[in-house]
Amino acid sequence: MLHHVEINVSNLTEAREFYEAFLPDLGYELYQQWPEGVSYKMGRTYVVFVQTEEAFLPKGYHRKATGLNHLAFHADSRGHVDALTEKARERGFRILYEDRHPFAGGPDYYAVFIEAPDRMKFEIVAPE
Ligand SMILES: [Zn+2]
Repeated sequence: MLHHVEINVSNLTEAREFYEAFLPDLGYELYQQWPEGVSYKMGRTYVVFVQTEEAFLPKGYHRKATGLNHLAFHADSRGHVDALTEKARERGFRILYEDRHPFAGGPDYYAVFIEAPDRMKFEIVAPE
């Protein structure tokens, strides 16, 4: 199992607002917080979001460039994916591949892809 993943974000407040809307519903609990970062943990795995240092902000992030493309999390069921999709819509977050949702990943793959801050892709997948 993954130990942890750490992601730099251009705006920690915005990132925190986004991830706080989903990670607790996906079973992650707030783990650590400090002025420049926050982390969420489930079991032995945690995810850390850290404010990018000023000097590195201009370089930006692009999910199609080399590096992390997206993060995917387990949902409990298809209904769980649907509920979180609804929550994303209510909050004005963009659903990616809307025309193929919830089968953008294939006919047997039930998931939602949401655009997270920095235009990172955030995926929530139902069990098969
Ligand atoms: Zn994926």
